[in-house]
Amino acid sequence: MSTLICPACSAELDSRSPEIRCGQCQAHYRIRAQCPTCQQELERLKACGAVDYFCNHCNSLVSKRTVIFEATPAGAGVRQ
Ligand SMILES: [Zn+2]
Ligand SMILES: [Zn+2]
Repeated sequence: MSTLICPACSAELDSRSPEIRCGQCQAHYRIRAQCPTCQQELERLKACGAVDYFCNHCNSLVSKRTVIFEATPAGAGVRQ
């Protein structure tokens, strides 16, 4: 499973959550899961405690190992 690092303090973040607060510096992030093929945001599918990622653009499930996770500061009103 790929790890996600806090951009502010380099602590490890839990990429399974759509939003996370860094346990070390308390920064609040929104976690974007991106398709490694088309770079579109992936949809999180929750099933029995596990999370799968689905790309609506490629119309296929994306392995957690290949998902690109990106932490963007939440609450700053930054939208793409
Ligand atoms: Zn941090
Ligand atoms: Zn895709």
